[in-house]
Amino acid sequence: MSQDPPHKKSSELLAKVGRRDVMLGLLGAPAALAMACQSKTPSNPVVTNQTSLPRENTMSTSTSSSRMPVLFVGHGSPMNSFLDNEWSQGFADLTKDVPQPKAIVVISAHWYLDGSYLTGNEHPETIHDFYGFPKPLYEIQYPAPGSPDLARKIRTMLELSQDSVRTDWGLDHGTWSVLRWMYPDAKVPVLQLSLNRHLSLQQHFDLGRSLAPLRDEGILIVGSGNIVHNLRDAISRRRTDTPQTPDWAASFDRDVTSILQQRDSEKLVGDWIKERNGQLSHPTPDHWLPMLYTYAASSEQDQVSFPIEGFDLGSISMRSVLWKG
Ligand code: ZN
Repeated sequence: MSQDPPHKKSSELLAKVGRRDVMLGLLGAPAALAMACQSKTPSNPVVTNQTSLPRENTMSTSTSSSRMPVLFVGHGSPMNSFLDNEWSQGFADLTKDVPQPKAIVVISAHWYLDGSYLTGNEHPETIHDFYGFPKPLYEIQYPAPGSPDLARKIRTMLELSQDSVRTDWGLDHGTWSVLRWMYPDAKVPVLQLSLNRHLSLQQHFDLGRSLAPLRDEGILIVGSGNIVHNLRDAISRRRTDTPQTPDWAASFDRDVTSILQQRDSEKLVGDWIKERNGQLSHPTPDHWLPMLYTYAASSEQDQVSFPIEGFDLGSISMRSVLWKG
């Protein structure tokens, strides 16, 4: 049994798979904690010296073989995995409109690699892929089982190579920081699909569309990113005590909402994202791409809704999107 603390183990794992895109507690642990607390809007998050326990979820009790919804979640700060605040309460409430899934496939912003891969672990490790946050965050475990059979099935559906099912990753915080609120008993099998940094927007979209048949098999497809995600701006606002949401962020968030309501697929995968507001909202594409997968897995028969809205840290959109037929 390893004596390494969880954060060390995760650091070694991160080094092993060569991952470079991690969420940083750039201001150090106390500042990161303060940042998460002070930037919140109406609620009063409870900070304890222990891991907060998500509420028991009693809403998602129905099993269904009918078409599952598709969900995009704005996960925001890793602190949301720990704090009982308006965002984590929103995550817990997401299951109100989602039948109990047989398994969950997550496309996380934090598994951004040189290829498309699937986690094939029987028991995926909880990856603490962030630095400088309070110690209790590194002690959180989300022991959901994996599903190697489903990973191999999706590999075939997406026409990926034989070596695309991997066991050297697990569940990163883009996944568990949300799912521990949605499904606190961690009984539903979970696997991740990586984001291939070399694909075009259209190719990401096409992969998402290829996932759509899973909905008819009771599998929940989740994209985890943020519709507006500019960490540098968020940190700058914290340092200068200017927590207001900038116009470009509010405008981009509104535009995306409109595009999703109108199902304007052409615009979603077009050059629009390269315009000024898109570039400011996504200096890097990792937190945007999961949106393309979930949108592509939805259809015109679905109703779109936004169960969580608002900004955290000034310029991090926490908007979540649910497509339900
Ligand atoms: Zn993130």
